[in-house]
Amino acid sequence: MNNLINDMFNISMDDTGKFETVNNDGFVSVTIRLKRKMLYCPHCGTKMVSNGISTKKINHKVLSDRNMLIVYEANRYRCRKCNHSEYEKNPFALKGFSQSILMMNQLMIDLHDPCFNYTMLSEKYNMSINEVILYLDSFVTIPHIPLPCNLGIDEIHSSMAKRRNVSYLGVLTDNDSFSLVEILPSRNKTDLNNYLSFVPRKEREAVRYVTIDMWLPYKEMAQKWLPNCIIAVDPFHVIEHLTKDFDRIRIRIMNHCIYGSNAYYLLKTWHKLLYSDRCRLDGEPRYDHVFRCRLNYGDIKKMLLEISDELRIAYDLKEAYRDFNSRCNYETAEKELNDLIYTFAKVRIKEYEEFLQIMVNWKKEIINSFIRSQATGNRLSNAKSEAMNNDIGSNIRISRGLSNFTRFRKRMLYCHNDRLFYSLTGKLTSLKRNLKKKDDDKEKKK
Ligand SMILES: [Zn+2]
Repeated sequence: MNNLINDMFNISMDDTGKFETVNNDGFVSVTIRLKRKMLYCPHCGTKMVSNGISTKKINHKVLSDRNMLIVYEANRYRCRKCNHSEYEKNPFALKGFSQSILMMNQLMIDLHDPCFNYTMLSEKYNMSINEVILYLDSFVTIPHIPLPCNLGIDEIHSSMAKRRNVSYLGVLTDNDSFSLVEILPSRNKTDLNNYLSFVPRKEREAVRYVTIDMWLPYKEMAQKWLPNCIIAVDPFHVIEHLTKDFDRIRIRIMNHCIYGSNAYYLLKTWHKLLYSDRCRLDGEPRYDHVFRCRLNYGDIKKMLLEISDELRIAYDLKEAYRDFNSRCNYETAEKELNDLIYTFAKVRIKEYEEFLQIMVNWKKEIINSFIRSQATGNRLSNAKSEAMNNDIGSNIRISRGLSNFTRFRKRMLYCHNDRLFYSLTGKLTSLKRNLKKKDDDKEKKK
């Protein structure tokens, strides 16, 4: 019991003079008074005497199913010689705070998890949203995070970026440790340039690999500021582009089929068989109500590819590139990619023209994506950082109406960096914007 009290309240039963609990409809109120101790005046060293008690209410919601309040009867002492008076050391809360230390600690740990938005935390800890935000602003400090050896640059869609007439935030990640390095207010050249120009030269020179999607400003900025880096394009983005182009071909062919025909039905209903490797083609046949016979996925796929020669060719090209991407290595990549460029150019499907240009313009970077990181042995790609990007995206979605970019950046860096920690201090600072404007308004009112 003593241990439990110690864990839940940060006091020992031996030091406690009064400990009374009242449980009222799921609301627990705990009145605590500590035993008086021998205290000496910090100014003159005289033994201090009792000077009454003072009651403080401290929010201490450490149980998830009920609110808890500590009614702390703090002992006060007075020096008879110099009249100095003071409270005993408060074991529950920092000076001036009405939230317990234990609870604030737990709140700071929860703030580390991007699945929580501020509203959820305010409800969980029975405090206002503004308090939650104020604690984040005050207790987390973000130092300069050095550029990693294996840097990933990507973007994330957010309305916070729209304030600068763009719709994407820039996201810089460490592709070896899968942590977040920086979030920029937009992915455009100016912001990247600003950020990189302040990074010390030595740090910039230490960046060996940069993985990007095919957004030209990333490449230009990497070439300008990271003199020793090898630039690679993220293989996932290349495949994604190719898949979208193939889909446009499928839709064009479908729209040329007679509505209600078998070909239309196949292209409309079963197109996923042309994209996914996950469907077992040799599985048990099932009855198909259109063809009125039992078919398995393999039969359907075969019929799909017989609809049109162009579809078959487009499909084979797409698969050839995917095969190249998954099987090739750095040594043979150049030759194989050249062969692919030749084949794509020869067939001349108009939806693939943009992809052909990508293969030509980004040839070097595609080949570089087959290089493996020395730290992890993985190919250069943003694939694993993508999971982190998804987390950031989910946080934006669940925190509807985020608008303070500075605070958002801080929270996300805190969430996605195990090396960053918080420290509870008595000082509160807010990252609230337009503070000056509000102060001006107040003065006007005066
Ligand atoms: Zn004194």
